[in-house]
Amino acid sequence: MDVLTICPCGSQQSLPACCELIILKKKQAQTAEQLMRSRYTAYVIGAIDYLVDTTHISTRKNYKRKDIENWSKSTKWLGLEIVNTSDTTVEFKAKFEGENNTIETHHEKSTFVFEDGKWYYVDGVFI
Ligand SMILES: [Zn+2]
Repeated sequence: MDVLTICPCGSQQSLPACCELIILKKKQAQTAEQLMRSRYTAYVIGAIDYLVDTTHISTRKNYKRKDIENWSKSTKWLGLEIVNTSDTTVEFKAKFEGENNTIETHHEKSTFVFEDGKWYYVDGVFI
């Protein structure tokens, strides 16, 4: 499979059969982990509206659209590793290219909430 068609979330499925379905709202994320994976992919492909839409209304003001967009566009993402999950939390490591070609890791435990039939990202703590 071409590297561009493999879903960035690490599922080994194709992007159109994986996170793209969720990002394009053809399919709902069924679990916090699915939403987390789709949000990682959204960062990779620059689906900023999706990232804003899937942030819970109670914390959306903390995540400025411009900051999300800058982070998405300025970062070369290298892969996602899910470390641990529960019903409402996902601990993950997202690798990205730092300055001087170093590999940096964003290690976060995120909290999600299921409301009105949809999963939302609430917030996360860096580990
Ligand atoms: Zn995916």
